Amino acid sequence: MELIKHLPKRAVLPTLKATTKVDVLREMSEALLSGKNKSLRGPVLEQIVSRESLESTALGHGIALPHARVAGLDDLVCAMAVSKKGVDFRAVDDRRVHLVFLMLYPPAKQSAYLNFVAGVVRALHESDRVQQLIDAGDAASMLEVLSAGAGETVAAVKAAVGKKAGIDALDADGIAGAELFLLARLELYNDMLEGAKKGKTELKRRLEDIRALVSRRVLQHYDRLRKRGGPALVTFEGGVCQGCSVKLPSQQAQRIRKETKTIATCGHCHRFLYPI
Ligand SMILES: [Zn+2]
Repeated sequence: MELIKHLPKRAVLPTLKATTKVDVLREMSEALLSGKNKSLRGPVLEQIVSRESLESTALGHGIALPHARVAGLDDLVCAMAVSKKGVDFRAVDDRRVHLVFLMLYPPAKQSAYLNFVAGVVRALHESDRVQQLIDAGDAASMLEVLSAGAGETVAAVKAAVGKKAGIDALDADGIAGAELFLLARLELYNDMLEGAKKGKTELKRRLEDIRALVSRRVLQHYDRLRKRGGPALVTFEGGVCQGCSVKLPSQQAQRIRKETKTIATCGHCHRFLYPI
C-alpha cells in the first residue's frame, strides 16, 4: 500500500504562504481540489474548519492531520505542506505546527482512510523524518522522504515481532501503536476481500501475514467484531465514537486519547477506536 499515490505533486507544498490555520486549510484544499473536484473547495473548507473548531487535529510534535469525509470524491486524496514559521493549530502540547497533512476521502472508503492515516502516523513517528520533510525544500524531495518512511513501517513492525521484542517496544512512541497500524491494514484487506472478484488468494496471504503479528487477545476481539458485521476499527473524533455515534463521557475520552499501551475500545459498541 503506497502512501504517495494519494498525494498529487501539485498538492505537496514545501513553503506555505498562509500564516493562520484557516488560511492554511484554504491554501491546501485549493491545491488539492482541481479539475472536476474544484466545485468541492467551498463545502470542503467549511467542513474542515467546523471540524477543527470542535477539536484540534494537531497531534503534537509540530504535526497536524486535518481531514474530512467528502461525498462526490472518487478516491482518498491528500495534500502535504510545510510552514517554516509554524502555525497555531491549538495543539495539545501548545507547539506550533510545521507539517500538515490534509486528507479528504469518500464516505465509502473509511478503511482505506484509516489505513492511510495509520501509515502516515507510523512514517512520522521518527522525529528525524519530520525534520527531513520540513527541510526538504521541494515537492519531489518531500515525496521521497515520505515514501522511504512508509516503506520502513511494515518492515519495522515485522522486525520487532521477529526479535520477540514484541509490539510493546514499538508502542512507546505515544502517537499510535504499531498494533493500531496493523489493525488498520487488517481492516482494509478484509474490506477488499469482501468486494474482490479476483486476487483473493493474494489478499488472504497478506491477511495471514498481518494476523501473525497481532496479539491474540486483540485478534479474538477483532474477529468477534467482524462477525457481528460492519467495521471493527473506527475513528474517535470530538469525543464521539464514529461507529455508534455515541459521545463518551469526557473523562473516558481523555483516557482514550492518552492511551499508548493498548488499543482503546468504545464503552458502548466495543469497537476498536482510532483517536484522530
Ligand atoms: Zn461505539
